[in-house]
Amino acid sequence: MKLVVFGGGYVGLVTAAGLASCGHSVSVVEADSAKLDLLRRGDAPFHEPLLDEILKPSIEKKFLSFYSIEDESLSSVIANSSVIFIAVGTPELPSGATDLRATLSVVKFLCKQRGSLSKKIVVVKSTVPVGTGDALEVMFRKSRKKPIVISNPEFLKQGNAVTDFIRPERVIVGTNDSHARDVMNALYKPFMLKSNRLIFMDRRSSEAVKYACNAFLATKISFINEMSRFAEACGADIRHIREGMITDSRIGNQFLFPGVGFGGSCFPKDLRSLIHQGQAHGLKFEIPAASWSINKRQRKWPAEQLSKIFGKGLGAKTIAIWGLSFKPNTDDLRESPAGELIESLIRIGAKVVAYDPVAIRNAQVKWRRHLKSKKLSLVVDPYSAAQDADALAILTEWSEFRAPDFDRLRKSMKRRIIVDGRNILDREEVIRTGFRYFGVGQRALV
Ligand code: NAD
Repeated sequence: MKLVVFGGGYVGLVTAAGLASCGHSVSVVEADSAKLDLLRRGDAPFHEPLLDEILKPSIEKKFLSFYSIEDESLSSVIANSSVIFIAVGTPELPSGATDLRATLSVVKFLCKQRGSLSKKIVVVKSTVPVGTGDALEVMFRKSRKKPIVISNPEFLKQGNAVTDFIRPERVIVGTNDSHARDVMNALYKPFMLKSNRLIFMDRRSSEAVKYACNAFLATKISFINEMSRFAEACGADIRHIREGMITDSRIGNQFLFPGVGFGGSCFPKDLRSLIHQGQAHGLKFEIPAASWSINKRQRKWPAEQLSKIFGKGLGAKTIAIWGLSFKPNTDDLRESPAGELIESLIRIGAKVVAYDPVAIRNAQVKWRRHLKSKKLSLVVDPYSAAQDADALAILTEWSEFRAPDFDRLRKSMKRRIIVDGRNILDREEVIRTGFRYFGVGQRALV
């Protein structure tokens, strides 16, 4: 099939490369010229494991090509396509509502195309408020266009996106149109060889599933984080509580890691959007609202620990940070807990030296101001970050932080203090090697 994907970000590019790897001819339209340049050279504009392996061969075989919105040839590409995916960003507005400007600009662009677009399928992959598909359909109809607008929310996880796309646990499609069902069945068939995991439903329910899943997963994280606060207060150990919980198969073992709260481009804005959507229907969404406020508080945990340790002297200290991305295996810094700690330390005058295995390039752009003022330094190996530091804070659970060389750390750090925001180190071992250790939901001092 000839396919078009608007948006060459984490979702759009993985979708495009995944479909091109099955032999479809996929044209990606990307608005950001810097990203487009990289894509045209065959380079992914972000870090995602296994993406290069499917991107480069598809480009070489000419199954994947890249366009800007201004490209004159784009109109004929669209005219010849049978499916058009929309995978542009849907960030949040200050009110918590979803900013649909990018989605709407794609639809306006399609409305200006010659021809009726009839029989073409417009697949909304971006996470959009319930009812957006209906609104887009109205826009098309007003311009006398008649594509079939369907919902197909994406569930891939950054850091595991390619595997998630190629081996999805399920694919949700919101449409009542039989032609669209046939086409989606054909598109996803190569990824469903073991069993069919395509679930069809009406468009509004499909749009709502995505919010329900993200709100539920965020709630699991906030629940264990709230329990970790309780453990700290009552002298219990969250590691044991967690073990006791996850062995109950009704509870399960995923998304129940205590830590410094969730971040990234999805959970925070999707929770807020759901709360906002509820309000529009006169509903008070209490669980998502509680998850949100628990998370806001939990993200302050590392700063609180450092304040407890150093008191007013914290402003004169140098803090090493391991891990800047909001989770491992991605270079995405959006809403990362590390960003929050960096800002709060720099605000009181402390110095920060940070290391991340892949996010340094993005960090150089995001915190250019702090780098210029020399309050923040970014280094290329974890032990240089720890050199002469008063404390080390671990904020992302990258594998390479799980078994540090404690001897080397002990010799290089000014003070032997570790604040483990992801509970990835073994408390007893760290203490044995001569450090003071602070883990989430664990008894405080040595
Ligand atoms: P992203 O910011 O990485 O990518 C979006 C891309 O769209 C950007 O490269 C941007 O330049 C481009 N763009 C914006 N306007 C455009 C236009 N008019 N035409 C062409 N390109 C345009 O975002 P993302 O993380 O890929 O997320 C995309 C959507 O998918 C969002 O709605 C998000 O909530 C949802 N989603 C994201 C994830 C995830 O893990 N990142 C997972 C599931 C769903």
